[in-house]
Amino acid sequence: MSMSYEKVEVPAEGEQITLADEETGELNVPENPIIPIIYGDGIGTDVGPATQKVLDAAAEATGRSIAWMRVYAGESAREKYDENLPEDTVTAIREHRVAIKGPLTTPVGAGFRSLNVALRQTLDMYANVRPTYHINGVPSPVKSPEKMDMVTFRENTEDVYAGIEWEAGTDEVEQVRSFLEDEMEVADVIHDGPVGIGIKPISEFGSKRLIREAIDYAIAQERDSVTLVHKGNIMKFTEGAFRDWGYELAEEEYGDEVITEDDLWEEYDGEQPEGTVVVKDRIADNMLQQILTRTDEYDVVATMNLNGDYMSDAAGAQIGGLGIAPGANFGHGRCLAEPVHGSAPKYAGEDKVNPTAMILSGREMLDYLGWKDAADLVRDAVEETISSGTVTYDLHRQIEGGTKVATSEFADAIVENIEKLS
Ligand code: NAD
Repeated sequence: MSMSYEKVEVPAEGEQITLADEETGELNVPENPIIPIIYGDGIGTDVGPATQKVLDAAAEATGRSIAWMRVYAGESAREKYDENLPEDTVTAIREHRVAIKGPLTTPVGAGFRSLNVALRQTLDMYANVRPTYHINGVPSPVKSPEKMDMVTFRENTEDVYAGIEWEAGTDEVEQVRSFLEDEMEVADVIHDGPVGIGIKPISEFGSKRLIREAIDYAIAQERDSVTLVHKGNIMKFTEGAFRDWGYELAEEEYGDEVITEDDLWEEYDGEQPEGTVVVKDRIADNMLQQILTRTDEYDVVATMNLNGDYMSDAAGAQIGGLGIAPGANFGHGRCLAEPVHGSAPKYAGEDKVNPTAMILSGREMLDYLGWKDAADLVRDAVEETISSGTVTYDLHRQIEGGTKVATSEFADAIVENIEKLS
């Protein structure tokens, strides 16, 4: 393991997190771990330091400390090192296993790949995890936002998002068209004239490792159910296979710990036995209705890339939107926490925006470390702060009364509440 970085600020103290068990991905977490942090672009320089302050307070209140390792990507990396994503950044995150990042602007122009996608792919972070739960005091467009407490596991590497597609009018797309029509006997489906074609790979390997991550999470967090969301009624061999592989995995790897919804009714009369997780499935369009009408029946959700993108945004809107929505990417024994929102360049450096999304992403990271007490403290302190009416501009304009504070002041108020609550 190399610890000689040139383009990284190595902390003076702190110990490295290591893998404890190759098979399960379990980690050895010291009480003073080194954790890489990318502040990110635009408002990243506002929400990054605010998050650090809050996580430091939560670690300290629970008898620990975090040794931050500043690493660079995006604009800050271009300014300092004249490159978008230094190899050292990727290596540091890979070697330290658990990291947090703010938003990165996707540079506009030919040849620029999204840095976020590059990071997730290089580190093989195959699960994008989006918790959606309501924080008391946050304005919401629905009547009972508190009914939502769902964690979406979105597959991150496959599906129509894999980037296998050809542009209309190119030789390549015509080759694909001829292959389909002449060799695969696809007749009378593709209209004559210009057409773009994309491919949707859904593999057993990709599906099972994602669903395994979701079931393991449900067991560890004592959640009741995992719902497989798919359009298998139409896309039988891709989305339908995802569902089938999910049930197969549940049966093969989890024994009595995981039961199906059919078992629940046929064997247990609808009474879920203590300590079990129920695996069920829903068609994606129906699921978008269900999260509005039967919100509290859903817990952990496992789904493919495109469904997951739509669903987690819809669920996020129910609990207050972008300033609040946290996220994380999981790989095997790896976690890269990041808020759902982007770099909102027009507010950059104004000490104005809401750091809650990145702070709650930090909470996911603490949970991943196994620091549940610190993670809960962060959530409770955020809730205490917002419900007392101390909020940033975005929430202030939606509530009556309340005190509008800057990003940094909001973080200070959360730190005070951490000290009070601990
Ligand atoms: P955005 O999320 O940056 O901003 C959209 C709007 O949402 C903002 O104008 C603001 O009104 C609001 N908003 C976002 N975050 C907020 C916060 N913390 N507090 C208060 N209000 C907030 O989306 P965009 O404008 O589409 O994207 C800007 C850039 O960010 C693009 O380059 C995009 O590629 C990138 N992006 C990065 C990520 C990531 O790093 N994971 C995610 C999404 C977008």
